Amino acid sequence: MRNKARELRDYQDAGFHQLLAALAEGKRPLYVLSGGGGKTRVAAEVIEQYRRAGKRVLILVHHRELLEQMWNALVDDIGLDEASVGVIWGQDKKPRKNPDAPIQIASIDTLLTRKRMKRPGWMPAADLLVLDEAHHAAATKWQEVLCWYPEAKRLGLTATPFRFDRLPLSVAFDTIVQGPSMEELFKHPEYPLTSPNLFVPAKDGVNLKGLRRSQVNGRDWYPAQLGVRMGKKAIVANVVEHLLRRATTKGLRAILYVPTLKNARKYVDAIKAAGEHRVAYLDASTPLAYREQLLKPDGLLDTGEVMIVVNCEVLTEGWDLPSVKCVAMARPTDSPGLYLQMVARALRTWVKKGDILQTVPVILDFAGNVRRHDVPWADRAISLDDDGKARGNRMPPTYWICESCVDGLECGAVNALGWTTCSVCGDRRPESVREVEEQHGLSLRAAELPLTTEQREELVQKILALAKQRLRRDMPRAFAERAVDAGLRL
Ligand SMILES: [Zn+2]
Repeated sequence: MRNKARELRDYQDAGFHQLLAALAEGKRPLYVLSGGGGKTRVAAEVIEQYRRAGKRVLILVHHRELLEQMWNALVDDIGLDEASVGVIWGQDKKPRKNPDAPIQIASIDTLLTRKRMKRPGWMPAADLLVLDEAHHAAATKWQEVLCWYPEAKRLGLTATPFRFDRLPLSVAFDTIVQGPSMEELFKHPEYPLTSPNLFVPAKDGVNLKGLRRSQVNGRDWYPAQLGVRMGKKAIVANVVEHLLRRATTKGLRAILYVPTLKNARKYVDAIKAAGEHRVAYLDASTPLAYREQLLKPDGLLDTGEVMIVVNCEVLTEGWDLPSVKCVAMARPTDSPGLYLQMVARALRTWVKKGDILQTVPVILDFAGNVRRHDVPWADRAISLDDDGKARGNRMPPTYWICESCVDGLECGAVNALGWTTCSVCGDRRPESVREVEEQHGLSLRAAELPLTTEQREELVQKILALAKQRLRRDMPRAFAERAVDAGLRL
């Protein structure tokens, strides 16, 4: 017999019990956990509880990767009999239709089509609705399906509880159950996520002045317009050079995000012209068979036959390949959700044949996303009613970007405020950064004597408190620790 407590990580077990309690109280919880933390696994346990109690569960997903992820969690991880799970999916090639099964995984689009065509049994019975990638829940088509089930209990899952449109998530949920932060997952003894090195190697950034924003796509910029800016020769050359030198030559498999298909072709050509032919591109129209061959475990990317996948508008949700250790963003976005979804593709710890491979992920930002949204592990206030007005606020200084040149390549490493030297190339920080630090009361001197564990902890706490007081925000603990280790003394 399975033992749940042993199979779930400590925080997953805590999340599982919190969710059950919230549902039992009649609440509609949204479970928030960073990508790679294993929220599908937690949801699968909740679903299994309901199934055992004789209830029917309907899981709503909006693309194929999410369907497969949920199927694997239920059938492989939990060990459910395939007869208890059905799939409602217009083009599901596998024989998984199983309309009498108590658990149904359904495509939102397929459900809506069936209703429109008045197919018999278009509305599967459900006592519990589970919404995967539930930050879409405020969208019209999701709302339509939710309206069919006024009495059903409801559970949402997301890594990025930021609206992609202008409606608050409180229309679908009434409480948040929050798992550990990205930073806590970096430090968890089972290493679900690996802390990355972050580079912003584009000193002058990308000029997005005058670009129009879409009214439908979360008010993000129009991809076609972004594509024109990101397709400029100098930008393409810079991206390709950094990508090849920082990732490909070091054996890191990479995903390069670009705004448009036209960009994708341009970048693929430039990468090939630079002598690297292990590159592929992907978009929503790529044939499914090739897509699978490229992306599956032991597929072309996993084995390294392809080292770079250039893609636009896919590979942000529900797909993970732990051997991907570099994410390069040539795709500016104003959506913190999209930013975090992109970055998260490189953070899942790579475990091969039971061994944890200590490869440090590399995040390359050519799109100004780090400056726009802060470092990925920054604490973000989340709320179901957040109206998103705070987005795009100027960054309080918690880090500085190294502008040194190493072997003709701009360093661009993101360093914690307080580090006197760059964590990657070792160069001293620029004077201008020192002035900012002094403004904020961080006086620096080199470490004189090694610290005891208690002294180190005391110093870390002091820095965190100071950061909170002076910068009015929480500094990631890892930053404070790394600053102390790099010689920061107060
Ligand atoms: Zn540097």
